[in-house]
Amino acid sequence: MQDLHAHAPALSTLSEEESMFRDAVRDFAEGEIRPHVQAMDEAAQFRPDLIPRFFELGLMGIEIPEQFGGAGGTIFMAVLAIEELARVDASAAIYVDVHNTLVNNALLRWADAGQQARLFPRLTADLLGAFALSEPGSGSDAFALETRADRKGDHWELTGRKFWITNGAEAGLFIVFANADPAQGYKGITGFLVERGFPGFSIGKKENKLGIRASSTTELILEQCVVPDGNVLGPVGKGYKIAIETLNEGRIGIGAQMIGVARGALEAATAYVKERKQFGKAIAEFQGVQFQLAQMATDLEAARLMVYNAARLKDAGLPFQQQAAMAKLFSSQVADRTTSNCLELFGGYGYSKEYPAEKYYRDAKIGTIYEGTSNMQLQTIAKGLLR
Ligand SMILES: Cc1cc2nc3c(=O)[nH]c(=O)nc-3n(C[C@H](O)[C@H](O)[C@H](O)COP(=O)(O)OP(=O)(O)OC[C@H]3O[C@@H](n4cnc5c(N)ncnc54)[C@H](O)[C@@H]3O)c2cc1C
Repeated sequence: MQDLHAHAPALSTLSEEESMFRDAVRDFAEGEIRPHVQAMDEAAQFRPDLIPRFFELGLMGIEIPEQFGGAGGTIFMAVLAIEELARVDASAAIYVDVHNTLVNNALLRWADAGQQARLFPRLTADLLGAFALSEPGSGSDAFALETRADRKGDHWELTGRKFWITNGAEAGLFIVFANADPAQGYKGITGFLVERGFPGFSIGKKENKLGIRASSTTELILEQCVVPDGNVLGPVGKGYKIAIETLNEGRIGIGAQMIGVARGALEAATAYVKERKQFGKAIAEFQGVQFQLAQMATDLEAARLMVYNAARLKDAGLPFQQQAAMAKLFSSQVADRTTSNCLELFGGYGYSKEYPAEKYYRDAKIGTIYEGTSNMQLQTIAKGLLR
């Protein structure tokens, strides 16, 4: 498919290494993912052979130091990978996104040297990660979580249920947030590194979703789940800080996913309007259609620059929280509008599963919900303004 942005000015800021990396991810997405996208969506099942490919291609340790098998790269590189994957399949993108921008990221910042030495070689080789904060009764109000952690000698026992956990069906490592001291309120929240085989840990139901259908979203059940003391992530009682700060960065990844989805939809619609004839000519010849495409391309360019800027700020060690919230808010709005308009440009065919437009439309919707709804992003931005 034609790449509308191959020569866009925004890309002139890419280094040679970033450019080559982006091209390699694009080739992989086109060659190995695109042929299976529709079948995976219909079956609501990601092909198990694609996850090992993410590891083999070095997509699962982008920011992890080379000594542990990672690429020693940047969040900007993670953004490039997520965007390219989402342009073809938003489900593929979210596997890579959660693993890098939430799990690896939290461990880079909060795991001790022993935990890093133990887990990073596996997280870059074959161990898929998941991030478990949400519960049936706590989403936006995440710190109202009810999962409890009780200390029992040399280990902890975790009891509760986690909901909506991305990668849940395939992950081997889960960062689970539980309250170790409810009397302290949110200051009791603590992060735990829970492995799939731990006693008392099981996976509950898998969600049947509107979009990103091939991405697994599951419930986790913790029944006095035994977690060794050495698997506490960061200080006891600092889980709220780990969760907030990790999600601040994670939002840049969701922004990347959304610009990828919008790009995929816009490229598909641009190709379609050149082929589809009405009133004796290609519908691309109607100025009304051209202006719709031009507006979408402009929105997308703005969203893309916001996402790239947030990533560059983070990589430069500068404050990025506001920019990340704005980038996630705006890129998910742009993806929502763009995919809707693209579907309309396909006319009736856009409504059919024979064409890609309806999937992009369904996949875009999640951007306004996870890792903080649009209202929560507005709240963060407003707080920053009024501080
Ligand atoms: C496909 C999918 C994957 C997910 N993956 C993960 C995951 O991997 N890990 C994880 O921990 N969670 C995950 N989530 C959960 C996700 O982060 C939550 O769904 C999200 O944070 C919203 O929480 P909620 O669903 O409880 O909605 P609620 O918090 O109940 O919100 C409902 C509505 O009320 C609005 N609202 C709530 N409070 C306010 C307020 N104070 N002011 C204004 N408006 C407000 C919200 O904006 C929203 O529109 C996933 C969710 C989905 C759907």
